[in-house]
Amino acid sequence: MAFTDALIDHADGARVAMVDRRHGAGGHWLEAYPFVRLHQASLFYGVASTPLGDGLVQHRGPETGLYERASKFEVCAYYESILNNRFLESDRVELFSACEYLGDRTFVSLVSGEQFEVPERCRIVDAHYLAPRIPAETRPPFDVADDADDARVIPVNDLARLGHSADEYVVVGSGQTATDACVWLLSHGVDPNSICWIRPREPWMLNRAMVQPADGPRRALSGVGVGVGPRQLSHSRCRAGPAGPSPAHPEASQVPPGSWSRPTLDR
Ligand SMILES: Cc1cc2nc3c(=O)[nH]c(=O)nc-3n(C[C@H](O)[C@H](O)[C@H](O)COP(=O)(O)OP(=O)(O)OC[C@H]3O[C@@H](n4cnc5c(N)ncnc54)[C@H](O)[C@@H]3O)c2cc1C
Repeated sequence: MAFTDALIDHADGARVAMVDRRHGAGGHWLEAYPFVRLHQASLFYGVASTPLGDGLVQHRGPETGLYERASKFEVCAYYESILNNRFLESDRVELFSACEYLGDRTFVSLVSGEQFEVPERCRIVDAHYLAPRIPAETRPPFDVADDADDARVIPVNDLARLGHSADEYVVVGSGQTATDACVWLLSHGVDPNSICWIRPREPWMLNRAMVQPADGPRRALSGVGVGVGPRQLSHSRCRAGPAGPSPAHPEASQVPPGSWSRPTLDR
């Protein structure tokens, strides 16, 4: 989307046919888990021509003073609007959704079966190099022991659709998705001792309070931060719970106990 957005602005007369096996614009966001948000301020994200969001600063919750972060639904609506109101309106862009690119200048509709040949005069741009593999569409790379009768493995998407509670939640992974899963469970009243978080030692996380579009919100911060420093990340298998201060990050040392792990307390 960002490439096409720039191309139609900077290459006179260029026309674009976008091909995606998904049903619309938005890429992996269309299948993302419902409680995902950007991990950064909305103003940092999106296509060059059109800001995402209204540049609002949050006034409640654990991120008070930080810029808004778009939800999955806001990101999808944004891409849909870019597609409809900018790309299609320009008459220079077409979206071939629900189509699989097969290689060799060929793609096929996954709905009608119609096959398309891309003419030699067109450039092919493979824009899926950085596409993430997401749990909703990928088998877990591990097995569950045969004697673990009660254990169910679910993609993170299904966490929001559980029919009944579980005695224990084991969250596997160390990136944004796993972190979101832990925070979501905590924010829904799950006891931290019932969450087992399995993750490697390596991950580092940016303190979002330090990476804001402008200085304003940071100045507005009054002792609120969301930093996770090396000390909290030093165990390969640990219980999820409130992050303590990190001596390596002075601003993170201002984090009030429990402020990041129980956002619903502020509702
Ligand atoms: C949970 C999550 C949160 C994220 N949060 C952020 C964030 O806050 N900020 C940030 O900058 N980045 C974030 N990212 C990174 C993310 O990769 C980018 O935001 C961006 O959306 C990636 O765009 P993309 O076009 O590279 O990949 P995608 O959005 O995955 O799009 C690639 C598309 O190519 C299609 N495709 C692939 N192969 C074929 C084929 N052969 N035929 C037809 N179609 C095909 C796929 O269906 C897919 O829709 C996040 C990623 C995840 C998973």
